[in-house]
This record gives sequence, structure tokens and C-alpha cells, in this order.
Amino acid sequence: MATAKTGPDIRTALPGPKAQKLIEKDQKFISPSYTRTYPLVVEKGRGVYLWDVDGNRFMDFNAGIAVCSTGHSHPKVVSAIKAQASRFLHMSGTDFYYGPEIRLAEELAAIAPGRSAKKSYLCNSGTEAVEACLKLARYKTHRPLMIAFYGAFHGRTMGSLALTASKATQRKYFGPMLAGVSHVPFADCRRCPFNVKFPTCNFACVSFIEDVVMKKTTPPEDVAALVVEPVQGEGGYVIPPPGYFEKLRELCSRYGIQFVVDEVQSGFGRTGKMFAIEHWNADPDMIAVAKGMASGMPLGACIARADVMDWQPGSHGTTFGGNPVSCEASLATIRLIRESLMENARTMGEYMKRSLEQMQARHRTIGWVNALGLMIGMEIVREPGSTVGDPKMRDRIVEECFRRGLLILGCGPSALRISPPLVVRRADARIALEILDDALTAVENGKKRAR
Ligand code: PLP
Repeated sequence: MATAKTGPDIRTALPGPKAQKLIEKDQKFISPSYTRTYPLVVEKGRGVYLWDVDGNRFMDFNAGIAVCSTGHSHPKVVSAIKAQASRFLHMSGTDFYYGPEIRLAEELAAIAPGRSAKKSYLCNSGTEAVEACLKLARYKTHRPLMIAFYGAFHGRTMGSLALTASKATQRKYFGPMLAGVSHVPFADCRRCPFNVKFPTCNFACVSFIEDVVMKKTTPPEDVAALVVEPVQGEGGYVIPPPGYFEKLRELCSRYGIQFVVDEVQSGFGRTGKMFAIEHWNADPDMIAVAKGMASGMPLGACIARADVMDWQPGSHGTTFGGNPVSCEASLATIRLIRESLMENARTMGEYMKRSLEQMQARHRTIGWVNALGLMIGMEIVREPGSTVGDPKMRDRIVEECFRRGLLILGCGPSALRISPPLVVRRADARIALEILDDALTAVENGKKRAR
């Protein structure tokens, strides 16, 4: 496989002829429910680089979608996959024992925040991890209700969809949802729904849960779990202020509610700590993980306090969960993250945040930058100083970056989402920032790249 030198190399109009043909076939045979932001048809990848079927080279600052934590096809992950694939591919983790699943659960217990012993339920995806948390919370507490947050994304199967409150399209015509979920405002201080300022607000959004929601519709004695993302991902890369999760943790402890943290997007080193919740002092009872945990192999987990995960045999299971090849990929991924990638995410995240904030002075459309490690959001606004987002402008910037060979995505109504693989080097980040700068200038001046 060719090694990338510097930056993207776009040789054809986009999409190129081979990509165009495959996209036509895709439209005939693939579910139209998928959201494809731009016409990228991937042939191969290495590190932060991807090549399309027409030989164009792109920089992937999405990491799949916050999944390829160790970069595309990291040699150590690939070698772990090959070694396990040659031993055995499957032996249902629900029904039988095998080493990779047990070793991974031991590793997850070691890296999960909090001192209490942990057990893991292994599955295949983020939504399944959230479903497991939901079921375990009900099982453990014998309570029916849940609290979740506006702006949250927890997945698309019917249980996790009931918690998801990010975009109405994700729910339209799928109701009725799982009964018993109350949504409350998230700590989005830039666009505070209570129109108050941190810290003088004294966490009005948390008081609202106890003083209004729990008193009027959702008796706390009936609440099994409060489910929350430490950093809202799909909802717009929103980072709550210091002290917020400590307050939520206290609230849950006061009423015997399971404090469930969805780290599907923010976990496994992406924010510069193994789990984003570690930026606060609020140990969860359960954590849902997936995405970056196996560098792109399908895997998810509900990691819970051992005294919480005490459901009886047969109460929950899945044929493919904890696949041995995925577990070995995950063990190799965690080793790499612990060795150096988590620290790289922290330092590269700081570098990119600083650079984007400097860029803000040159671009009227940049409202603000939200960044925790390599979970970086940049809000695109209608005019300087305003909090009114500009979704169309955001979409044009994403498109112009693509034309220049930089892959980024949107999140929330009007933010740019930048989530490169944790292996990203400063030289790559510098090129990506230059491309973004150029794309912003072009969009602000109403110009398009020629091809
Ligand atoms: N939870 C969060 C925070 C996510 O970002 C996602 C996916 O984007 C999910 C859950 C669902 O994960 P999956 O798509 O693997 O089902």
C-alpha cells in the first residue's frame, strides 16, 4: 500500500468515473435511509489517509465516524485481527467461553472509571450497548422510567431511539416510542434554554430536573436511569461546564437512579482521557461504549458496576456480541491508546483548538470552538457575536472541504465536527487546518472550487 506524503491529492472531478458508477448502483440496491454527505467511495485507507476508487487521496478527519481511533488499518490492529481470524471466527459469546472476550472484559474493568469492580456485557454496536444499559437499569431497579436529554443521540433501535432527541427525522413515523422517557434540557451554556449565565445560574438546568420534572411528571422513585453523553456528539459537540456531572451524579445517588453515561462517541481516548466523564468527578454506574473501541471492527459494551450487573442467565444475550476477532482488535487498540494515542489526542486537540480559535479572528462565520481533545466542534453562525446558527453555510463548508480533499462532517443544527483518528500528526493537522481556512474563505466570499 502506498504511503501518503503530504495532504490530499485530488486528480479527478468528484465523484470520479468509477465512484459515479458505484454510487448509481448503490442508489439501486442500498437503503435510502442512510445519510451520505458527499460522494466518497472508499478503496483503501492508511492512518489519516483514504484513497477513493478513482485514486484520489483524502485526509479523513472523521475517522470513519469517530470510529477508526488508531487510524485506518493500523498494522498492529490488522495483525491482531489476522492472527485471531486464523484461529477461529466465532463461537457465540452468549453460549460458550473464549479467551479474547474474557481478556477484553478484564481490560475494560481495569480502564473504566471508579474504584468499584466492573463487569461487561459485550455486543456489536453503540445502540445495542445503550439497549443493554436500559434493560439492566430496569432489571436492577424494577423501575420503569428514564431521564434523557434534548440534543442527545443514543442510537436508532427502538429502546435507544426513545432516548434519542437530536433530530425529529430520526423519530418521524416510528412512534410510539418506548414509554416512560422524559427529556430535559442539556447544559448547553452557549444557547442556554433558561437564558441564564454560568456560573451564576447555579445549575438551573439541574434544578429544573428535580424541582419541575421530578415533581410534576417523573417521580424519582420510579426512575431507573438517567442517561447522558458527557459531550453531546450528534447533537453538536456540546461540552457541559465544570461541576455539571457532579451535580447529576449527586441527583442520581439521592434517588437511587442509575447514572448511565453514553461514551459511544467520546470514549477510548478521544478526549485525551480514556473516558470523557473522567474530565469531571462523577463515576458512572454504567457506561455504554462502541465506535473507537475496536478501531472499526463491530463491537460494543455495557460496562457496569459488578454489583449492578447481577442479572440472571438468559435475561439478556446476543449471538454475535463479543466476537473474538473484534475483541482482539479491541485489545490491540486499547494497548495503542494507552501507550501514546490518548496523550496524542490531548496535545493535538489543544493544538487544533488554539489554531481554530486563531482562525476565528479571520472568519466572521465561526461563532465558537468547542473542543475536548480530538472531539472538536466549530459552530457556524449567521453573523459575528450571534448564537443563531447557519446550517446552509455549514453544509457548504463541509462540501468545499471535501472538494479540496478534507473529510469532515456536520453535527447539531449548525456545527462542524472534526474528529480525526488519534494517530493524527501535527503536520497533517496543519494541512487540514489550511484547507479548512481556505474553504471558509471561499464560502464566505461565495466562491466554489472549480471542479
Ligand atoms: N451513542 C452515541 C453517543 C453515538 O454517537 C452513537 C452513534 O453515533 C450511538 C450511541 C449509536 O451507535 P451505533 O451507530 O453503533 O448504533
